[in-house]
Amino acid sequence: MFTTYRARLFLYISLLAVFLSATLGYTYWVSRNLIIAEVENSFANTARLLTGNVEMEENELLHYAEVVRDDLRIQEYMFMITKVGAEPGSLESLYDRSFGWLPIERYVFVDIKGQIQLGNKNKDLAHALLTHTKTSTDEIFYFQGDNGLELAAWAPVSYQDTQLGMFVVTHILNSGWLETHRNYSGGNLFIEQNNTVMISTLPVSEGKTFLPSDGRAVLNNEVYQVRAIPLSGDGKNTPHLWYGISQQELLDQLQSHGQQILLLTILGTAAIMFLGLMVTRNFSRPLNQLMQITQAVTQGAIPVMGKSTGTNEVDTLANRFSEMLQSLREKQEEIDRTHKLLKESAIMDSLTGLYNRRYLKQMFPKLLAQARRDGNTLSGLMLDLDYFKKINDNYGHLVGDACLTHLGALLKKTSRASDYVFRVGGEEFLILSLGESPISSELLAKKINHSLSKHPFSSEQTIITMTASIGVSHVDNKLPPESALTNLLFQADKALYSAKHKGRNRVVIYSSEEHFQPPLKDAAS
Ligand code: GH3
Ligand code: MG
Ligand code: MG
Repeated sequence: MFTTYRARLFLYISLLAVFLSATLGYTYWVSRNLIIAEVENSFANTARLLTGNVEMEENELLHYAEVVRDDLRIQEYMFMITKVGAEPGSLESLYDRSFGWLPIERYVFVDIKGQIQLGNKNKDLAHALLTHTKTSTDEIFYFQGDNGLELAAWAPVSYQDTQLGMFVVTHILNSGWLETHRNYSGGNLFIEQNNTVMISTLPVSEGKTFLPSDGRAVLNNEVYQVRAIPLSGDGKNTPHLWYGISQQELLDQLQSHGQQILLLTILGTAAIMFLGLMVTRNFSRPLNQLMQITQAVTQGAIPVMGKSTGTNEVDTLANRFSEMLQSLREKQEEIDRTHKLLKESAIMDSLTGLYNRRYLKQMFPKLLAQARRDGNTLSGLMLDLDYFKKINDNYGHLVGDACLTHLGALLKKTSRASDYVFRVGGEEFLILSLGESPISSELLAKKINHSLSKHPFSSEQTIITMTASIGVSHVDNKLPPESALTNLLFQADKALYSAKHKGRNRVVIYSSEEHFQPPLKDAAS
């Protein structure tokens, strides 16, 4: 199936793309779980951190209460007021001077009779303290005062083993307080009391029902993952602090992460496919070209192939192939030339450059067919030089040869382009001529004799005027080619003989009445 180089390359790249997609898909799945775990982990850590922070603040507040309580001058003043009946106003100014800088919201000193001796304006706080201490020994408690929800820390005050009362300080738990405790992780803080959100860093949730179950709570139709941040005190008024993060926010985080991975997968796969296409194109184009050329060579052609300037393996292969084609072409041209020469020498006479007897037999059927088709007369002119022996004897064979060459050129010049001139014997020639009428061949024969007389052979030593006897015969178109040729040669020969007999240097047309009937045998061979 994947037998071609191109198909295999395509397969490898597709496999690579699938592998990449699978790897990225797996990475996405793993990282998704990691993110969930990480988010949950950071959620729990934040809750722990918040718990620690709140605890620290509770202890800090208690520490402030104790700092005031442990101050000797304050104790003495409290003693003076509660036991000796001194003016409480001086305690107020002492407190302001000594502890006015403490980061607390409100304070109250209640004596053992339940009377407020310091912080007189904070009656609700004094009431809450007395209520709390009736049922609990916890030094920290939360209560709903006139200013809203408050965190309070109290300490018993005594002077020289004499119980004087209690000192309490508070922090107001408003949205400002929540903001300072809010973690940077993007979650929200909720203070809930009796399943209602009292205050929150998410103001829209305030006053809404808050019923957490299994670590989840629904607020404003949105699911929050929540953790309780424990507060000290176990009074029924103690509110609950919750840290929550929107599940949608988590999902959004996951989704954006997933989209990034998906985008990465698509881009990666596209990049690999593009790369693959480029590689396939780069490799397969020159190979395809080579394949087409080899196919053309197999079919007998030798195409011209341009050279590439590249230096890679495929370019080098293509260039070697181009060189191979060039050398093949040169060899083919040499073969063609030799073949042409051989072909020519097989049908040509080397002395005169005229066709030989072998070619006469070869081409005669075609010429006869043409004559039949066009309704023309095919005539044969048999020519024999007169007294040629004498020329040989007088001037030598070389001059005799030169005379034959001269005659050959003259015959070619005199005859028409459509005529065929053959050297059929030593100094015997045959001209096959296609004419519209028998007369035209007689005229041609006369023209030849005339031309011979006008153009004698001339060399540096001598001038020889040659004459020739010509016998003319017309082909019987109805005969089959072989018989037609035998007949033609026989009759032309007869006419030639007659011309010799009548005194040479003349033209005789064959006539069946005058000459013998031809015997039907192959005279061309
Ligand atoms: P006739 O008029 O009867 O034809 O007299 P002739 O001397 O031409 O007689 P014939 O045609 O019988 O003689 C042919 C002579 O042509 C014989 C031979 O010496 C000469 N001959 C044949 N072939 C060649 C050739 O290739 N070169 C040369 N130089 N002479 C040739
Ligand atoms: Mg002869
Ligand atoms: Mg002769």
